[in-house]
Amino acid sequence: MRILVVEDDDRVARGLVTALRAASFDVQRVATAERALSAPSADVVLLDLGLPDADGIDLLRKLRERPQTAIIAVTARGEERDRVRGLRAGADDYVVKPFGVAELLARIDAVLRRTRTARAEPEQADPRCGSGR
Ligand code: CA
Repeated sequence: MRILVVEDDDRVARGLVTALRAASFDVQRVATAERALSAPSADVVLLDLGLPDADGIDLLRKLRERPQTAIIAVTARGEERDRVRGLRAGADDYVVKPFGVAELLARIDAVLRRTRTARAEPEQADPRCGSGR
């Protein structure tokens, strides 16, 4: 499973990458929105909404256009408004800084379970046998 960590804080990013690699994920880390958009697609994006070069919500919307990718937004404590905006913009889940590695891994497993289930379901809107238009 590939995870893209989008985080501008080096110290936070290092901890995350170490923990995720220890959990056997294939991890790539970028520090800017620009690099997040040019990175190869991942199964899960861990997206810090507070980035220096772009509005995190705008970036989330762009990443959301990749249907195979689950997105977990990362926000600072107390910013309910950001969490709500993140969920409404298409985040599958969020974590609040500072968060524990065990919680993060559990949330990653949860979103992966959901995206795998969604992928395994048959196409519901097959145009060949659909509305007759
Ligand atoms: Ca940040």
